[in-house]
Amino acid sequence: MLSPGFISLSPDLLDALGAVAGTENVISDPAGVETLSKDYYWYSPVLRERLESRKASAAVKVSSLDVLRDVVSLAAKAGVPITPRGAATGNYGQCIPLYGGLVVDLSGMDGIVSIEDGVVTAEPGARLAAIENAARPKGWELRCYPSTWVKASLGGFISGGSGGIGSITWGGLRDQGTIKQIKLLTIEESPRIVVLDEEKALEAYHAYGTNGFIVEIQLRLAPARRWDQIIVASRSWAALLDFTQAVADDDSIPKRLVSVLEDPIPSYFKPIKKFYPADHHLTFLEVDASKTADVKSRAEAAGLLVPHHIAHHEPRRAPMLSDYTWNHTTLWAIKADDQFTYLQSGFTDNFREQMAKLHERFPGEILFHLEFVKGSPRNATMKKAVCGSIPLVRYRSEERLREIIQFCTEIGVGTANPHTCYVDEAGRSNDFVRQKELKASVDPKGLLNPGKMKTHLTNPFLVPGSMPEFLFS
Ligand SMILES: Cc1cc2nc3c(=O)[nH]c(=O)nc-3n(C[C@H](O)[C@H](O)[C@H](O)COP(=O)(O)OP(=O)(O)OC[C@H]3O[C@@H](n4cnc5c(N)ncnc54)[C@H](O)[C@@H]3O)c2cc1C
Repeated sequence: MLSPGFISLSPDLLDALGAVAGTENVISDPAGVETLSKDYYWYSPVLRERLESRKASAAVKVSSLDVLRDVVSLAAKAGVPITPRGAATGNYGQCIPLYGGLVVDLSGMDGIVSIEDGVVTAEPGARLAAIENAARPKGWELRCYPSTWVKASLGGFISGGSGGIGSITWGGLRDQGTIKQIKLLTIEESPRIVVLDEEKALEAYHAYGTNGFIVEIQLRLAPARRWDQIIVASRSWAALLDFTQAVADDDSIPKRLVSVLEDPIPSYFKPIKKFYPADHHLTFLEVDASKTADVKSRAEAAGLLVPHHIAHHEPRRAPMLSDYTWNHTTLWAIKADDQFTYLQSGFTDNFREQMAKLHERFPGEILFHLEFVKGSPRNATMKKAVCGSIPLVRYRSEERLREIIQFCTEIGVGTANPHTCYVDEAGRSNDFVRQKELKASVDPKGLLNPGKMKTHLTNPFLVPGSMPEFLFS
């Protein structure tokens, strides 16, 4: 059964798309369309139930700006929904169309235009690992990247991601001028290019593909370093936290990763379990190789174990501790036990007390996975490193999930809600007024990923029942 508001593409439109993109690049068979309509939304049992039946009518793969322009022009003339897709590793159903129509797969538009003076210019489909691997021989590296860097696209990271490995030094993707420039293609019968520089570019950031096709990006890079990976273990949660926070706050230690994993989370990491003792809490660090000896001796002096150290290797190779951090931690946990889901939480300075309260209120339901990140200038009161968390939650029901989120709010823990597909319900501090103004100017008919920016008023496809509702709204 088709979902409410589903828009089918006409055979004429499919033919016209085939003429501009190549018939082999137009996908209309049900299995192919289903695959190209989905992402990692199934991390959330709430999204899984709401979005399972949602899919496109057809998909098209584009590999150049000229073809994209023609595709957008045809879709805009026909007035059908258009949903951009990168590598589809997003977790919130961002690239699942709510109204059928056309999915545009940009993974083939993956050129790295230049890497010069610490700035990479690339097309949206460029994979983050490809950018990192091209930048390092030139003395540069990405400031921050998601743990999905091998697959994830740059355009998808800008539109659907937030930060990751490197954020302990550089903050989120939106911080410290990391995004230098974004070029957008408008959704019009005669599509235009709009160039957004510096702060202005943030209007196109984290908008779930609703405000223009990102067709080129300039990112500032960091000077490349030699990163060692260190595992620190302890049976004492308090002692491990004290050591880890001190490392996170110490600016004299260049670092890329500071992750803390409450026991038994490490037992879910099958491929690397042999590197550390069972029944311990762990910290995973990536630090500049010149600081490894110092960090190890500090850990040992604090009575902690340092069971494994992986020396820098160029190019990087497995095992990589970052493959078990950020939202990969959640993936390993779900693989071990499919009752797990997760939250995305922002603790304050008294995070020890907040975590203790959560354990006490929801015994056995929450396991803490912490990611320390550089405090944002937007939160001037924060200390240097902020304790973020992607806690694992044993899923009982939507009501219980809501109870946990409400309790978090009561005790001052912020939530970027991963159990909604609407960008304006996800709890990030986007400037929606400016994002909506941008959307109105680049997508005047409201055709791009309609519905995902829920409070944007132009949605020509809206019919009763077409917008999934969430308990958290
Ligand atoms: C195991 C796992 C670990 C993860 N770890 C992290 C992490 O550490 N940090 C993090 O931030 N995220 C993380 N994520 C989420 C996701 O992997 C990243 O955000 C990733 O960068 C998304 O890139 P993508 O190419 O897969 O985007 P997609 O999922 O394809 O798209 C994401 C959004 O961007 C839109 N979009 C894509 N391309 C364009 C374009 N050219 N123009 C306009 N809109 C576009 C889509 O419509 C969609 O709304 C993780 C996910 C998983 C499954």
